[in-house]
Amino acid sequence: MSESIDCRIDRILEQIHTSAQQAGRDQADVQLELAVKTRTVNEIAQAVHALNARGQRAILGQNRVQEAQVSTPGLRDLGIADFYPTLIGPLQKNKINHALRVVEEIETLDTLKLAQAVAKRVEPGRVLNVMMQVNTAREDTKSGVDPEHALELAGAISELPALHLVGFMTIGAHTDDETLVRRSFAQLRQIRDAAVQQGLADATELSMGMSGDFPLAIAEGATRVRIGSMAFGPRRVA
Ligand SMILES: *Cc1c(COP(=O)(O)O)cnc(C)c1O
Repeated sequence: MSESIDCRIDRILEQIHTSAQQAGRDQADVQLELAVKTRTVNEIAQAVHALNARGQRAILGQNRVQEAQVSTPGLRDLGIADFYPTLIGPLQKNKINHALRVVEEIETLDTLKLAQAVAKRVEPGRVLNVMMQVNTAREDTKSGVDPEHALELAGAISELPALHLVGFMTIGAHTDDETLVRRSFAQLRQIRDAAVQQGLADATELSMGMSGDFPLAIAEGATRVRIGSMAFGPRRVA
C-alpha cells in the first residue's frame, strides 16, 4: 500500500520547517500550497483535511480551469469549505469567466492585456487577489513576463481597482544545477523587493518552489511553496 497523503503532508511540513530554520526564517512565513492537477476530489479532500487538522489553511493550486470546475464544487459537496483555490496554470481569455467562479486568486497574470481582461470580468464589489508570473528561468516553454518588464507590469496591474496584487510567482529553472535554480528564485525576490519599495506594499508574496526544489526556494525567501507529487505521489498522465 502506498503511503497515506496524511503522512506525506507531515513530512512536507517537517521539511518546510527544517528549510525555514536553516534559512533563519519563521516556518509560519512559508505556506504550503498543494498543486492538485490530475488529482481526484477524494485525494484533494484528504489533503485538505490533513492540513485543516494541523491548523493550516488549504491553498489549492489549480493548473486547469476545467479541473477547478470539478474540484471546487466537488469539495463543497463533501461539506468542505475551508480551502482557497488559486490558479497556477496559464489562463486563456475565453476561460476567464469560468475561472472567476471557481478560484479565489490567479497567480499567472503575465500581460497587461490579460490583467485588464480579468479586471473587466470581476463582479462589481469584488476585488480579486492576483500574482504576476515572471519567467525568471528564461525558458521559452514557460509562461511569465520577462524579468526586465516585471516592475512596469506590476505597476500597471496595481492600478486596476478590481485586482489586488499580492505578489509574484515563478517556476524555477528546470535543471539539476542548483546555482541556476537559486538564481531564478533570487531574481523573483529582487523583483518583489523592488516592487514593494516602489510603493506596492501589498505585493509581498513569493510563490516559488516545487517538490524538487522547494528547500532552495525557501532559502531564497519563498512565502508559498507549491507541492504536488511529494504530497500525492507520482502524477497520473493528464
Ligand atoms: C505541477 C506544478 C507544481 C508542483 O509540481 P510537483 O513537482 O509535482 O511538486 C507547482 N507549480 C506548478 C505551476 C505546477 O504546474
